[in-house]
Amino acid sequence: MQSRAAPEAVFCAGRAFRAAVMPVLILTLAASGPETTRYDVRHFSDCRTASIYAASHPTVGRYLYHVTAKLMGARTASAGNGRFQGRGTAVLALGVSQFQLPRWTWPQSSAAQRAAYDSFAAALRVHEVGHRTIARAAIQNQVLALTVLARSREAAEHALRSALATQLRATSDELLQKEELYDRVTEHGKRQSDGPLYGFPGGDDVVFSCP
Ligand SMILES: [Zn+2]
Repeated sequence: MQSRAAPEAVFCAGRAFRAAVMPVLILTLAASGPETTRYDVRHFSDCRTASIYAASHPTVGRYLYHVTAKLMGARTASAGNGRFQGRGTAVLALGVSQFQLPRWTWPQSSAAQRAAYDSFAAALRVHEVGHRTIARAAIQNQVLALTVLARSREAAEHALRSALATQLRATSDELLQKEELYDRVTEHGKRQSDGPLYGFPGGDDVVFSCP
């Protein structure tokens, strides 16, 4: 028996992590989806306006991803006394993911201003990569044996799928807490250098001040 519908938790990491975990059913067979980058293209009137925007928008950078769960090698067998045992393997993986990063300009930008912006953008990317590092460590190739007992073969198959969804939720919740803690201790990157103090990825602090 192969699960036709793999439960998939879709949630936003990084600065979008305030969003709740939203488990949805999506057909997927991809063990690990592609990673893309989308740029937030903005044209500001000057450097200062851009830096004010950065300071007042904590969702400038994001790392969004799906966690996929597949039920592999599922099978049912009579367990005697009118009971059926279902066994399978839950395989969790990172599905499609996307970095969202700024690409900002303003007229008459000085070399010093560009350097300040480039440092900001680079540090922000490091922060978002940190979200990916945390997700990968928690999710990548997570394989768990599932065993259920039910009163019919169909019920056993159903219980296996439920166990898969439960596992996905538990893993997603745990991961969500880790990502939120990472954002809390690094203040969404503003104190990125503090990350390693808490066992999280580090890097330069994300600051953008116009010279
Ligand atoms: Zn973050």
